[in-house]
Amino acid sequence: MKPGLYDYYRCDTVDEVLELLDQHGDDARILAGGQSLMAALNMRLAQPKVVVDISRIAPLAYARIVNDALVIGASATQASVEWRPTLGDEVPLLKRAFPYISHFQIRNRGTVCGSIAHADPSAELPVVLLALGGRVGLRSRQGRRDLSADDFAQGMLMTARRPDELVEDVSYPVHRAGTGYAFAEMAQRHGDFAIAALAACVDADGIRLAVGGVSDRPRLLNIERLSGSALDDALNDFAWSLEAQDDQHASAQYRRHLVRRLGRRVIEEASA
Ligand SMILES: Cc1cc2nc3c(=O)[nH]c(=O)nc-3n(C[C@H](O)[C@H](O)[C@H](O)COP(=O)(O)OP(=O)(O)OC[C@H]3O[C@@H](n4cnc5c(N)ncnc54)[C@H](O)[C@@H]3O)c2cc1C
Repeated sequence: MKPGLYDYYRCDTVDEVLELLDQHGDDARILAGGQSLMAALNMRLAQPKVVVDISRIAPLAYARIVNDALVIGASATQASVEWRPTLGDEVPLLKRAFPYISHFQIRNRGTVCGSIAHADPSAELPVVLLALGGRVGLRSRQGRRDLSADDFAQGMLMTARRPDELVEDVSYPVHRAGTGYAFAEMAQRHGDFAIAALAACVDADGIRLAVGGVSDRPRLLNIERLSGSALDDALNDFAWSLEAQDDQHASAQYRRHLVRRLGRRVIEEASA
């Protein structure tokens, strides 16, 4: 199929973007890497009147450490962050998750902020953001606000972003001494969207386990350090709380099974 008609703006500055979003609101869509939006346009699942291309705004194509977080700008591609030489030391969980996102051709164009803004429940980057307690920075002509990953994600392809806001950056907290990390996922083939994706952070205080692909958005289990049958019980309760659904990829029962089995695996790996 072909997309409907829309006006295309290629912006060079953030101010231009904010002006267009302010003017057109819900009728405008940001185009970042286009790896999700172009398909939605072609299938006419999205029919905006205005497409605002941010992919060539050089000042937004950054990833830098600010106050114990890796802050990634709206135009930074997934590949540019994945191949950052220091990423494994800075945000080890992110380094582990990147290879699960489709294939390198997609990561070459897709952006980190685009994945967070798109809010696909099976996407890996929002799961890592939630596990680490990361934040989303939003900017409009009215100013800037910062939301936790938990407050930002509101449902399948739904977020707390207002129509006039740009996801300006996302912040992934850097590695803290004494914390272990692990990531695992089950998909039909490597590179497919996850049936279940799990990210664990374990330190002396407790366990943070984030799960994608099972609910309408990534969900978090935040508990004290447990082992043996107490951990099994906590994972079982968590799996049932996610209200998994059957779909063409997997049954709800299988998804609960993955939460219990892969959940235990990532927690043990992160605890080692
Ligand atoms: C074949 C294929 C396989 C894929 N497999 C996976 C996978 O396994 N895991 C995975 O996580 N992803 C997968 N993806 C999606 C890919 O990671 C996308 O790149 C990502 O979801 C969206 O990023 P983007 O920069 O391409 O955003 P775009 O497609 O440009 O935009 C996506 C949506 O987010 C909005 N948006 C983008 N950036 C901003 C911003 N800064 N502020 C506000 N709104 C914004 C757009 O308006 C649009 O609604 C796959 C894509 C393809 C084509």
